[in-house]
Amino acid sequence: MAVQRTFSIIKPDATRRNLTGKINSMIEAAGLRIVAQKRVKWSEDQAKEFYAVHKERPFYMDLVNFMTSGPVVVQVLEGEDAVAAYRTVMGATNPADADAGTIRKECAESIEANSVHGSDSVENAAIEIGQNFSEAEIVG
Ligand code: ADP
Ligand code: MG
Repeated sequence: MAVQRTFSIIKPDATRRNLTGKINSMIEAAGLRIVAQKRVKWSEDQAKEFYAVHKERPFYMDLVNFMTSGPVVVQVLEGEDAVAAYRTVMGATNPADADAGTIRKECAESIEANSVHGSDSVENAAIEIGQNFSEAEIVG
């Protein structure tokens, strides 16, 4: 294990329901440190670029529309084994399959409006952090 950084998004369904603080509490309770954070509204182009890996999936345009439907809070999280640790705290993509106590079980509305994003690998974390933050904005 090593100290890693991962990229997190608190999605529009969660910002709309005022759940930013609750989700941040769950992140911090899991031992992850929020070392960068900002609340922004993504353009359609930003959402399309971020989710380009899913562009052939049937839900792609719905996902782009959802991610631009309101503010998102983008974050960098730091901690031991942060990529896998955050995926554990998030829970399964579909909240119906998520373990008790996870963010998605506690907060998500549906498989699409599932409250949070977390990077799926160290390599993708670095790419996603670079798309959203300058080094000067990350304070460990
Ligand atoms: P995860 O966010 O758990 O890594 P994916 O990378 O597979 O999941 O999908 C990215 C996002 O696309 C999900 O978080 C969710 O918002 C949306 N999504 C995934 N699968 C579906 C689906 N079957 N129908 C609608 N939206 C979906
Ligand atoms: Mg994913």
